[in-house]
Amino acid sequence: MRQRGNLPGPESNPRLGLTGFVSGTPAPHPAHLGPEECQLLDAAVVLLGGRRIAVLTGAGLSTDSGIPDYRGPQSVPRKPMTYQQFVGDEVLRRRYWARNHVGWRHLRRADPNAGHAALAKLEQRGLLTGLITQNVDKLHSSAGSVNVIDLHGTFDRVVCLQCTAGFPRSHVADLLEDLNPGYLERESDAGDVAPDADADVDDTGDFVLARCPVCDGMLKPDFVYFGENVPRDRVADAYGIVDDAGALLVAGSSLSVMSGLRFVRHVSKAGKPVVIVNRGWTRGDEFASLKIEVGVSEALTYLVERLPDLASS
Ligand SMILES: [Zn+2]
Repeated sequence: MRQRGNLPGPESNPRLGLTGFVSGTPAPHPAHLGPEECQLLDAAVVLLGGRRIAVLTGAGLSTDSGIPDYRGPQSVPRKPMTYQQFVGDEVLRRRYWARNHVGWRHLRRADPNAGHAALAKLEQRGLLTGLITQNVDKLHSSAGSVNVIDLHGTFDRVVCLQCTAGFPRSHVADLLEDLNPGYLERESDAGDVAPDADADVDDTGDFVLARCPVCDGMLKPDFVYFGENVPRDRVADAYGIVDDAGALLVAGSSLSVMSGLRFVRHVSKAGKPVVIVNRGWTRGDEFASLKIEVGVSEALTYLVERLPDLASS
């Protein structure tokens, strides 16, 4: 499912609200959103307006950048590897690295979409306390967002599990290239690539793993795996963003893992509004002040055009 080439980049998308809010001249309702959807989004503007907002994003935000969501309505079911499987099973580890070796390049080539651009614009206008993302694709940073917590790590870093040294993914790619000459050429037409850079490659049996250049230890992509905890200081930083905010906006996440859901519960418990924009059911729906089932890019573009500037104090 490679649809990236058909999707407009941020520069070519005329729907981008890059001019920000212009008071007294509400933008016309876009043709791709129905009247009911616009009504719900207008309700979100009322709930979020006048407050600084914390934003939590998930894979649904990056589907318009050609990165399929493995929990979305159209996704192929895929069982992510657990940390215990990764460190405990060499056959699975070899398979994981082989597929990642092909897949990470896809994430590197992906471009941010209108949704990422809208959130960067909201931050520039001073409306956000920060952005917490469950995505490892770094597209928020590419779009210009500054205060971003990569809750589950990033695809472009690798860590050594023995000496904890970190390496750029590109450096490890060179090591793997030398150890597996011709592999990429053979497997470069892998179709589907998941948000965690897992490419659809089956011939992985003789793939040779790279070791840590410092201590010869085991290398792992710098992701938080299933069965692994988010580092404590990262969680504290994320709670800081949430506590500074007067509201939480969730965009494109089914909140199926506790690492994201806990922020929704926390904000709801504090009596602040939670707005969830996601196609399909989420585990946070019961805590939401407002749930909107529309495309995430369209919704964020709509919101950035209508949310008012904060009164300077
Ligand atoms: Zn090491």
